Amino acid sequence: MKILVTGAAGFIGFHLAQRLLDDGHRVVGIDNLNEYYDVGLKNARLKRLEGRDGFSFVKLDLADRDGMAALFAREGVDAVVNLAAQAGVRYSVVNPYAYLDSNLAGFLNVLEGCRHNKVGHLVYASSSSVYGANTTMPFSVHHNVDHPVSLYAATKKANELMAHTYSSLYGIPTTGLRFFTVYGPWGRPDMALFLFTKAILEGRPIDVFNYGKMKRDFTYVGDIVEGVVRVIGRVPAGSPGWSGADPDPGTSFAPYRIYNIGNNQPVELLRFIEVLEQALGKEAKKNLLPLQAGDVPETYADVDDLTAEVGFRPATSIEEGVGQFVAWYREYYGV
Ligand code: NAD
Repeated sequence: MKILVTGAAGFIGFHLAQRLLDDGHRVVGIDNLNEYYDVGLKNARLKRLEGRDGFSFVKLDLADRDGMAALFAREGVDAVVNLAAQAGVRYSVVNPYAYLDSNLAGFLNVLEGCRHNKVGHLVYASSSSVYGANTTMPFSVHHNVDHPVSLYAATKKANELMAHTYSSLYGIPTTGLRFFTVYGPWGRPDMALFLFTKAILEGRPIDVFNYGKMKRDFTYVGDIVEGVVRVIGRVPAGSPGWSGADPDPGTSFAPYRIYNIGNNQPVELLRFIEVLEQALGKEAKKNLLPLQAGDVPETYADVDDLTAEVGFRPATSIEEGVGQFVAWYREYYGV
């Protein structure tokens, strides 16, 4: 297949692109290489992808309407995995407007590209944050009413609603994947594992929110990639497929679905830090702080639907995954 991966220089996009190339697919990667975090890291990921057979890259912003329309028309891709977004819960409190262009206007450009170019399947990143606070455990797409408590989460929920609309109006098969706190090698410098590792190695204290009582369903990036790869090949069940014909609103139904992808095993932040201390062989100095605005006290994925559909559930232990991250960090930064 020829697959468009947006956000290919990003953490998850990089790993996914590698895997798709390994599997013999052709990958068109796009990214705007923005400065939300270290561009050097994004370029280093890209460097590994460029030069590989079957990979091509275009520096492009999702919000560039004409650029996106031209890309879709030119490339004629079979499937799209949309990972480009302004990520980060806390940053959406600081800079809310950054989320509008990439996550809403940008996502609309992706949907329009799929609509006008008969793309066979759109898989896109949603987030566990759409559930918000005060939900029943584990988080299930069936039982929970979503109450986003950050603008980031609201834009991810909006993506699901927009995808539903395009699936029902135009018959475009869409699958939304609610990722749960993803970590691993080449991980994001704005996320806890990276920040903690850097601070501990430099002997600085780490900020531990909700006094370390927060629970997260930490999910290893390799498991996320496995889930995405399996999902791409399975267009939503019962989908009429994309015929290009005008849909009949009376009879058509939406080839639309949403899955959680998480480890199904929430871990308290203090325990996560212990595992990191062991992997680093060094103790952390902790600044215990209250819960931050926009954060939720716990995330916990019900992954039964995903498992039933693709025969896979994430299972990498935090000991294994944190060990992989630390090994990469030490090698990459030479520390
Ligand atoms: P990331 O920030 O590393 O990757 C996103 C990439 O998209 C970056 O390289 C960035 O430069 C690019 N990008 C941002 N806005 C763009 C735009 N307007 N046009 C083109 N490129 C743009 O983040 P990630 O952790 O790899 O996350 C990938 C996706 O998964 C995102 O949609 C994110 O919201 C979602 N997600 C991630 C996590 C996680 O824990 N990492 C959890 C839930 C959801």
